[in-house]
Amino acid sequence: MATLTISNLHTEVAQEDGEKILRGVDLEVSSGEIHALMGPNGSGKSTLAKVIAGHPAYEVTEGSITLELTDEDLSDIDAELDEDDYTWELLDLEPNERAALGIFLGFQYPAEIEGVTMTNFLRQALNAKLEERQELFEEDGEEAETEDEAGYDTSPMEGPADDGDVSVAEFQGLLQEKMEQLDMDSKFAQRYLNAGFSGGEKKQNEVLQAALLEPAIAVLDEIDSGLDIDRLQDVSNGINALRDEQGSGILQITHYQRILDYVEPDYVHVMIDGEIAKSGGAELAHELEDEGYDWVRDELQGAA
Ligand code: ADP
Ligand code: MG
Ligand code: MG
Repeated sequence: MATLTISNLHTEVAQEDGEKILRGVDLEVSSGEIHALMGPNGSGKSTLAKVIAGHPAYEVTEGSITLELTDEDLSDIDAELDEDDYTWELLDLEPNERAALGIFLGFQYPAEIEGVTMTNFLRQALNAKLEERQELFEEDGEEAETEDEAGYDTSPMEGPADDGDVSVAEFQGLLQEKMEQLDMDSKFAQRYLNAGFSGGEKKQNEVLQAALLEPAIAVLDEIDSGLDIDRLQDVSNGINALRDEQGSGILQITHYQRILDYVEPDYVHVMIDGEIAKSGGAELAHELEDEGYDWVRDELQGAA
């Protein structure tokens, strides 16, 4: 079971004159849990998601984001593990390294590339993750062992089977399985990247990418915005499958209670002015829907 722990996180905008956005965020998300992060516009929710991802627009001035892993999370790693392979300070890592450790941070639409199908794009994304993942756990010293006493290189031949690549055929099977799980039309995979996906289709792509990458912790920022009810249900089924079939932990950022009727959160947190002002169970989301955020802000100010 993986646990993401955010402690006393303070961030400023990296450029300009350092406007403070996050002011001491504490939050813990473990595999298998669904956390909803709610809060008014401008309170810092997307900033938190981007800081977890390692977005360069933000400077962390205080605090930490650690990821704790267990043997279960590392069963695919083809290297001898030592103590420090189980605890990672994400703030010291590049975005792709964080992703390789099992943090999923939403579908990144690359600039339009002519002639790249969804299938090819997703396969490349999976292979990039798997390769980076093995590299993270290889000791520096291990490379040296590929020279024999006389100094000849005895490293195995580089080939698709050696470096964690998922073959085209293998990937087709995996993709089909995940698309069935998400109730997606198989024609989807043949479409070209960015070629006129609707808002709803983009959100489904995001869930599909998460399903393929099998993250320890997935951060989904407003995946419910602009979805009609059918698509909301499909996307919600996908999120529930991520948790139920892959055991992912989910940090679901949403402005509206609506999706929480389909993806029932174990925990609800309210962010106000860059802090988690209140946490509770699913009932807190209903209270917020009925009464808005002002009473939480009043409580926060009363406590200060
Ligand atoms: P939310 O997702 O809760 O609506 P955001 O995290 O997007 O809130 O924004 C929080 C505050 O930080 C807002 O006032 C926003 O204008 C500001 N902000 C966020 N990112 C930047 C940035 N890159 N540069 C300047 N201001 C930013
Ligand atoms: Mg936002
Ligand atoms: Mg090691």
